Amino acid sequence: MADADQERSGSPAVDGNTLVAMSLARAGVDRMFGVVGIPVTSLANRAVALGVRFIAFHNEQSAGYAASAYGYLTGRTGVLLTVSGPGCVHGLAGLSNAATNAWPMVLISGSSDQSFTGRGDFQELDQIAAVKPFSKFSAKATDISRIPASVFSVIDWAVAGRPGGTYLDLPSDVLHQTVSESEAERLIIQAENGRNKELIEKPRINYSEIQKAVELLRKAQRPLIVFGKGAAYARAENALRKLVESTGIPFLPTPMGKGLLSDTHELAATAARSLAIGKCDVALVVGARLNWLLHFGEPPKWSKDVKFILVDVCKEEIDLRKPYLGIVGDAKDVVEKLHEEIKDDPFCLGKTHPWVEAIKNKVKENVAKMEVQLAKEVVPFNFLTPMKIIRDAILGMGSPAPILVSEGANTMDVGRSVLVQTEPRTRLDAGTWGTMGVGLGYCIAAAVASPDRLVVAVEGDSGFGFSAMEVELPVVVIVFNNGGVYGGDRRNPDEISGPYKNDPAPTSFVPGAAYHVLIEAFGGKGYLAGTPDELKLALSESFSARKPTVINVTIDPYAGAESGRLQHKN
Ligand code: ADP
Ligand code: MG
Repeated sequence: MADADQERSGSPAVDGNTLVAMSLARAGVDRMFGVVGIPVTSLANRAVALGVRFIAFHNEQSAGYAASAYGYLTGRTGVLLTVSGPGCVHGLAGLSNAATNAWPMVLISGSSDQSFTGRGDFQELDQIAAVKPFSKFSAKATDISRIPASVFSVIDWAVAGRPGGTYLDLPSDVLHQTVSESEAERLIIQAENGRNKELIEKPRINYSEIQKAVELLRKAQRPLIVFGKGAAYARAENALRKLVESTGIPFLPTPMGKGLLSDTHELAATAARSLAIGKCDVALVVGARLNWLLHFGEPPKWSKDVKFILVDVCKEEIDLRKPYLGIVGDAKDVVEKLHEEIKDDPFCLGKTHPWVEAIKNKVKENVAKMEVQLAKEVVPFNFLTPMKIIRDAILGMGSPAPILVSEGANTMDVGRSVLVQTEPRTRLDAGTWGTMGVGLGYCIAAAVASPDRLVVAVEGDSGFGFSAMEVELPVVVIVFNNGGVYGGDRRNPDEISGPYKNDPAPTSFVPGAAYHVLIEAFGGKGYLAGTPDELKLALSESFSARKPTVINVTIDPYAGAESGRLQHKN
């Protein structure tokens, strides 16, 4: 039918690949991450020709992490393109990470020819079934005429409500079908008109809940404002600043909430976290789940009488946590409404309020203790000495602040408390899932989303190894190399037995691996740094050169702890 149509109209043919590219461009997609091959190579080429930048990866796993982080950083659906079967399976890493972190992305995979289903076609897989646990919506374009509507729906569903992962299945036979140019245009316009506008509308906020929240905050003795990456995604930073500064309420960011208000703000309770969450009586939690990262909102970390005001775009999240008061809405909208409501009858704790003073004193005490540790120059390096040097180098860059990517066990733990975030959405880490291997994908997403910012990854050698082949953009990757997962061989002598007892420990990699040499194969610059002077030189050169760089920092394999202090998960 499609071919006959084309003959009648006489206009050139548009194939499925081209129609997908046209639809993506019309949906506002400007970047795509992925690995091409049969049957999607020409899809990527067509997209590039239409002005969509394609960022090619070695492995779909990293490309998927990049797409998810791009969605988080830009607030628009990140796109991952893969081939069928194994490509789609590798892409599941990114899709599941997006679902867990509540970041918008779509996995678009080619799939095998529909006429051979179930007979063992090339790279055949029931991909719709495979993506099911990780996607909130999926579509299969079973005919070329269905392509535009499918593309729009997966893009829109990813950002609808709680952001997350969606999936688009493109059978190879459909990618090779054709329609006329005029028919392609008609299909796109029809799909555009059919877009479900309600999907992308923000929830309406219940005014009486705003009033109740304000009363709770007004009457609280020890109020606290906690915010997370949902608030960062919502770009709630200005609203939060106004609320915090007008009320004088201390605040605590989650790891990726760090920077919405600067870590150096006088009301930041980050360095007094245990006191803040242990003693607050009313906690306004904005865009952060009361999951493991926040100790489920329960004793012993939180007081048993704390009253939670939970702000989330997702009603199910509020139903699950059963807070004292739940407000369904966009973080920025809700915080603005709270601020407006307070403005009519303002209150402010003030600097001498006992709660504010208690937190400030604790912050001062903890910061002073940490600075004593950081002031020691320990060589061979422990984690603190190089981390301090990196902190100072990053702070020295000023504004726009670099984007920090962080993963690893000890490296991420120590980094979280030592490195300072001064601007919103400048920290990407292992996230809700504690996913290792996200580093290079996140670096690339950050470099693509914010070309004006330097991108610096601080990661363990184990974390780096997951995606080390993806070192091709001008980012500075600092590898804390302690020769393995957690570091040296920490087994008890009685654990070392059996026929393979002479093998390296399961936690060990090749000691002294020359990661800095690896980057030179890609035309980048490598540094080996084992002393403060070597590290300082490497940082100052690489921060100004903005070339792909790996700084291989030699860490004492017995510094740090096994399991990266998992008891202090946050
Ligand atoms: P963190 O890891 O920083 O604690 P989480 O990922 O646990 O943050 O929680 C983020 C929460 O933010 C999720 O429950 C998600 O539904 C919610 N969220 C996402 N977008 C918005 C938004 N625009 N407004 C409010 N909440 C949002
Ligand atoms: Mg290590």
